[in-house]
Amino acid sequence: MTWFKLPEITYPLHVDTIGKVLALDGEIDVYCNTCAPWRGHRLNLVAIAKRHGIDYSSMHWDLIKVVYCPECRTAGRSDKNLSFQHRTNHLPRCDVVTRKQTN
Ligand SMILES: [Zn+2]
Repeated sequence: MTWFKLPEITYPLHVDTIGKVLALDGEIDVYCNTCAPWRGHRLNLVAIAKRHGIDYSSMHWDLIKVVYCPECRTAGRSDKNLSFQHRTNHLPRCDVVTRKQTN
């Protein structure tokens, strides 16, 4: 198991690394502008951090070096016509379910 030490968040805020995105509970979606510009996929930021380090850049020109569109690659097209969208996590993080005692 790999553990990451998340970076300390400092201000003024610059969310420019994978670690800072994770520390702020953010996410990055990737869109292929060639085959499906309407369909985003959530990047596995932990996998990118494991492979390239927690301080790897979250900027477009650095992400595009390590991410590609598998559908375009298989079809023989350019697989780097990608867009990235940083966003905050909108899903609830709590997995605890409170059940009402019936007896
Ligand atoms: Zn594509």
